[in-house]
Amino acid sequence: MTTFRCGGEARYLAEPSSFTEVKQLLDYAGENNLPVFVMGMGSNILVSDSGFDGLVIKLGKKLGEIALMDNGDGTVDIDCGAGAPLAMLGNIAVKEGLEGAEFCCGIPGSVGGGVFMNAGAYGREIKDIALSVTYLEAGEVKTIDKDSCGFGYRTSIFEERGDLIVLGLKVRLTKGDPERIRAYAEELRVKRATSQPIDVPSAGSTFKRPEGYFAGKLIQDADLKGFALDDSGAQVSPKHSGFIVNNEGRASAQDVYRLINYVSDTVFEKTGVRLEPEVRLIGRFE
Ligand SMILES: Cc1cc2nc3c(=O)[nH]c(=O)nc-3n(C[C@H](O)[C@H](O)[C@H](O)COP(=O)(O)OP(=O)(O)OC[C@H]3O[C@@H](n4cnc5c(N)ncnc54)[C@H](O)[C@@H]3O)c2cc1C
Repeated sequence: MTTFRCGGEARYLAEPSSFTEVKQLLDYAGENNLPVFVMGMGSNILVSDSGFDGLVIKLGKKLGEIALMDNGDGTVDIDCGAGAPLAMLGNIAVKEGLEGAEFCCGIPGSVGGGVFMNAGAYGREIKDIALSVTYLEAGEVKTIDKDSCGFGYRTSIFEERGDLIVLGLKVRLTKGDPERIRAYAEELRVKRATSQPIDVPSAGSTFKRPEGYFAGKLIQDADLKGFALDDSGAQVSPKHSGFIVNNEGRASAQDVYRLINYVSDTVFEKTGVRLEPEVRLIGRFE
């Protein structure tokens, strides 16, 4: 269920279709002392081979409704359930001739995961289009405006705290020239397809961008482009050094993890810059 195509199983997996069901699941986990992991589309996680010994709550299509509201002043608000794919939000916006969400089209995560990570691409992030976020805190549904979300580079209060469940996002977009918006979305699609290994299992950029550097460039300069420790299938992508890929889904999570550490250590030895994983590690790793 993850884009890395490796890792073990969850003890329980549930896909709720209402806020009430999310609450019921949390109550169940609490009563049974089960750790909980909230998952979107699994495009930014590496799950250990021993899996997750708890309850995975997957926010998927059942909590992924998207509704548009024309404000009559040249802007449109879009209400998105956390389980909606970010790409769907992007595609709807493009189809409706709304500007600003084109960057979402190529990100293979959910709206909830996008809020959590403040996902972004090509100079824009969720924080640039967000109006407000609805989330669950200790059994209570709350809505806060974007300025209270603590959005930063690949972070938010949801990422910092870890105990909040994002349920929905409201964005505000401006009407623009539909042809120009379509052309820009297409330009980004081509850029991504030519520069990233989007057809090979991965979790996108493996490492965060260290301040003042690009992770991919550091890895390339350390002669690690295309590097593999063994023939497990885990490899630094020959197409984009910032991506660690799992060729044909053959590698175990441990193989990927060993390569992540090797790359981070080697880059540190050669440049003095420590690469931190952007990919979130779930479960136990040796
Ligand atoms: C080919 C490829 C390209 C990518 N390109 C980009 C890119 O351009 N820009 C970018 O930013 N990212 C990119 N990514 C990474 C990834 O798509 C994003 O980080 C995305 O936002 C993760 O969303 P998800 O739903 O898959 O989250 P998951 O991987 O399922 O979860 C990631 C984290 O978010 C938490 N989470 C998920 N949903 C919720 C929720 N509803 N409430 C609370 N916590 C939640 C999880 O607990 C976990 O800690 C790419 C990945 C791939 C595979």
